[in-house]
Amino acid sequence: MPKKSNLIWKFFQTYFLPPLCSSCNKNLGYICSQCHNSLNFKINTSTIDSHKHYYLSSYTPQLQNIIQAIKFDQYEKALESVSQHLIKTATIQPLIKQYDAWISIPYHQKKQYQRGYNIIEAIFKPIFDIHAIPLIYPIKRNKQTPSLSKLSKENRKKVLSKAFNYNKNYNINLKNKKIALVDDIVTTQTTMKNCLQLLHDNYQIDTVDCISLIKA
Ligand SMILES: [Zn+2]
Repeated sequence: MPKKSNLIWKFFQTYFLPPLCSSCNKNLGYICSQCHNSLNFKINTSTIDSHKHYYLSSYTPQLQNIIQAIKFDQYEKALESVSQHLIKTATIQPLIKQYDAWISIPYHQKKQYQRGYNIIEAIFKPIFDIHAIPLIYPIKRNKQTPSLSKLSKENRKKVLSKAFNYNKNYNINLKNKKIALVDDIVTTQTTMKNCLQLLHDNYQIDTVDCISLIKA
């Protein structure tokens, strides 16, 4: 029964041994120094519904390994390493400091609780904090959505269009403000598009740019 012994080994390794690198799975450390040094972020530009989209990397095999480890193996400390690397990316500071506030695409509370941490905030909050740019909450997630990967493109759109709402209890004046809408990974753009629509429909925001760590 290799599966069961694998699980036991994994458990033992997770809780009793120093962690193996989430990227190379060879050296010690949540992300070993070699892999940390080989991370390569730079600002790439794209568009989502005529909004600017800045992303720091494509979905490289290295980042795929790290994100998998973070999502499933309690490797949240690897996020600090990613965040620190991002902070040292010189070109990101001038980008970030131009915003008046930033929005982290909301996870469903239950999902966040299961993981125990918020990937977007763990990576981006230290960078926005340097410039004292506040995290604001004008959007909330309505309910837990079914797993999107199993849905057709059309059904995915339908589910996601009802996934978010503006936060009725949140009084904030965003008129003439420049806002960054931030996600960890942008794949289909559907989530970003829905949130952009909500922001434009409910707040008179001047400019919203999208930022993500990864564009898949
Ligand atoms: Zn490594």
